[in-house]
Amino acid sequence: MEKIVLPDIPNFDKIEVYKKHGGFGAAKKAFKMTSDDVIDTVKKSGLRGRGGAAFSAGLKWSFMPKTTDKPKYLCINGDESEPGSFKDRQIFEYNPFQLIEGILITCYAIGAKSAYIYIRGEYHKWVKLMQEALETAYKDGFVGEKMKKTFGTDFSCEIYIHKGAGAYICGEESSLMNSLEGHRGYPRIKPPFPASKGLWGCPTTINNVETITNVPKIIEKGWEWFSKIGAEKHPGTILYGISGHVNKPGVYERPSGTLLLDLINNEAGGVIGNKKIKCVIPGGSSMPPLRGDQLEGIKMDADSLRAAGSAIGTAGIMVMDEDTNLLKVLLRISRFYHHESCGQCTPCREGTGWLEKTLRRLDSGNGTSADLDLLISVANNIEGNTICALGEAAAWPVKFMVDRFRDEFEKYVKTDVVIPVNNKVHSMRNTANPLANIKH
Ligand code: SF4
Repeated sequence: MEKIVLPDIPNFDKIEVYKKHGGFGAAKKAFKMTSDDVIDTVKKSGLRGRGGAAFSAGLKWSFMPKTTDKPKYLCINGDESEPGSFKDRQIFEYNPFQLIEGILITCYAIGAKSAYIYIRGEYHKWVKLMQEALETAYKDGFVGEKMKKTFGTDFSCEIYIHKGAGAYICGEESSLMNSLEGHRGYPRIKPPFPASKGLWGCPTTINNVETITNVPKIIEKGWEWFSKIGAEKHPGTILYGISGHVNKPGVYERPSGTLLLDLINNEAGGVIGNKKIKCVIPGGSSMPPLRGDQLEGIKMDADSLRAAGSAIGTAGIMVMDEDTNLLKVLLRISRFYHHESCGQCTPCREGTGWLEKTLRRLDSGNGTSADLDLLISVANNIEGNTICALGEAAAWPVKFMVDRFRDEFEKYVKTDVVIPVNNKVHSMRNTANPLANIKH
């Protein structure tokens, strides 16, 4: 299988090696096409965003206005702060020039003269590597004014790298733009959508690092070639980041639609100590978890995972073996989202706190069965009632983990609860409704 995003070519992060293997040829080809043809090619290829939403990249580009008196912008989302996701940094390190070439082609297609690569604040090493690659590309005439001569075109664009400050929420596209503008990373209410009012109020497209790194190969080899790889409705390869209780954690590029168990057992070397799998989160910590006894036949593409009751997210596969304490896992996940909530909307600000507090009560041995229902109820009240998707990110792991592993969570429930009612002490057996069994 040909790897599109992380090819097995030694020193591919060196510009001479990249050029030797046809690097920047796709940009040259694209600049001879009309921008509409470039968008059409990417649309027909079926390329879908690799940052979580799996939205059609070409369709997103087509939302940009053709005529406007405002400048247009491209933002590359390399915030990568979802726990379990660590694929974009591989591109920064091993294939930076294909990302840069993808940015040039995308800017040409949407008519942008400036692009910003927004990189996660903690990624010091990868910011440095990407900065060095960009400086080399500038020096060798592939970016900026000099690219006109290099490519024999009137088109040119500038690329800037922006380092975030470590907030999870800045991976959300509208808070990423606020952060770039120098404001606090608050998500914006949509509409208006970025294509009409984005960075500094101007038309903006935001794409994930991996998405854009696919673009040069699509232009070079054609949309038909790309559309035949992997799952029919979610074609191409995907960088699967596998972590947790596996022998060989890492990033594996395989066709979309590869079997989840194939990735765990063959690519990642199976579960440590040949233990059974208790739980897998297939797309980063915010996606609905799956039971280990229900993984047979599940394919890793957007539509197959939706049908299986989860989502592809960032394809960060987190594997938990049979000895894992899921209450502790969920508490850790919930503490993270509570901490990262920006606090703008009440269901997320208050709800994430409730989730953490309730899970802490269970973890301390003082929780009841009613707390399990409370967790699901709070999660349901967050879901769909917030400005941005952090609400769902916080709600889904709780809602689905408690529901799908109820047997597991019941183990942590106090079975004989004593509560005072009217100054008398009453005993309550373990029950879903804490008031149902009160004896008078
Ligand atoms: Fe902020 Fe949470 Fe509301 Fe998103 S959902 S805007 S993170 S409070």
